Amino acid sequence: MKGRVFSGARPTGRQHIGNYLGAIQNYVKLQEDYECIYCIVDIHALTTLEGTEKLQENIHEMMLDWLAAGLDPQRSILFVQSHVPQVMELHTLLSMVTPLGWLTRVATFKEKARMQPHNINYGLVGYPVLMTADIVLYKAETVPVGEDQLPHLELAREIVRRFNYLFGPTFPEPEAKLTNTPLILGLDGVNKMSKSLNNEIELAASPEETRERVMSAFTDPARKYRSDPGHPEVCNVWRLHHYFNPDEVDRIAEECRDATRGCVECKEQLAEGINRALQPFRERRAIIATKPGYVAEVLADGASRAHVIATETLREVKEKMGLISNYSEGSTM
Ligand code: SF4
Repeated sequence: MKGRVFSGARPTGRQHIGNYLGAIQNYVKLQEDYECIYCIVDIHALTTLEGTEKLQENIHEMMLDWLAAGLDPQRSILFVQSHVPQVMELHTLLSMVTPLGWLTRVATFKEKARMQPHNINYGLVGYPVLMTADIVLYKAETVPVGEDQLPHLELAREIVRRFNYLFGPTFPEPEAKLTNTPLILGLDGVNKMSKSLNNEIELAASPEETRERVMSAFTDPARKYRSDPGHPEVCNVWRLHHYFNPDEVDRIAEECRDATRGCVECKEQLAEGINRALQPFRERRAIIATKPGYVAEVLADGASRAHVIATETLREVKEKMGLISNYSEGSTM
């Protein structure tokens, strides 16, 4: 094993092919070489206070997808952030070493504040501190990230450096492990695939639902008639063929350019490719979904294993910060 990996994802419910190609398949691969800790970050989801009534359902559906995709609870620790509450205590302690200016300059904070001016809460500005606590509570050395998340990880590294400088070497500086999967665009062909934009294709959709979704995809806007030559390089359907019909992409591009292929048949072929690729996943998911209590068992076991590591880290941090006395040790740990 090369070390410990940590990654967290918000409970967005059923996962889509953008989640799979961008993150989950990488999570699965990392299990071969690393001790992996994967967490559904439900506390982070509260920063917007939207859809909280669906939180538990979303966690359940998301974990079903993770398990069906190949995350293995025997090899990896799979759990829900709030089930290991030490993370909130560490968040408070790390907030003492984090200058406010570091947090208010974060681009995503500014963007969120612009998007929800009615709810610029403390959780929103403290989000990078909680994210740092997520990683360092488990002393993870490696964090798989896309390029867009690099500034967040750099901030986590800054917080770690400051803590280690003030209280002595405690946490490893987490290193980014860049995923090389490009951005997966949604059915609108413009924006990143996302549930909130309703441009996604769910992994667990039925073959017919998948076909319907793919048929609604935007293609080359310059191609108004079947006889118009197409431009596959601007068409997201063609980009998706790279993942689901990789041996066909050159032929598809050629037939698109000389208009011997229509968009309807092109989408049909993509839908078939997606359905073929996802069939084993869907079969596994259906089996797991029939086992009552299985997801809850996996999460309880994951939380209990995470709890052991978290307790030890927090004990060390509190001791270094001068918090543990004989009296408090007995009463808080
Ligand atoms: S034929 Fe295929 S690649 Fe060409 S524009 Fe239509 S959907 Fe896109």
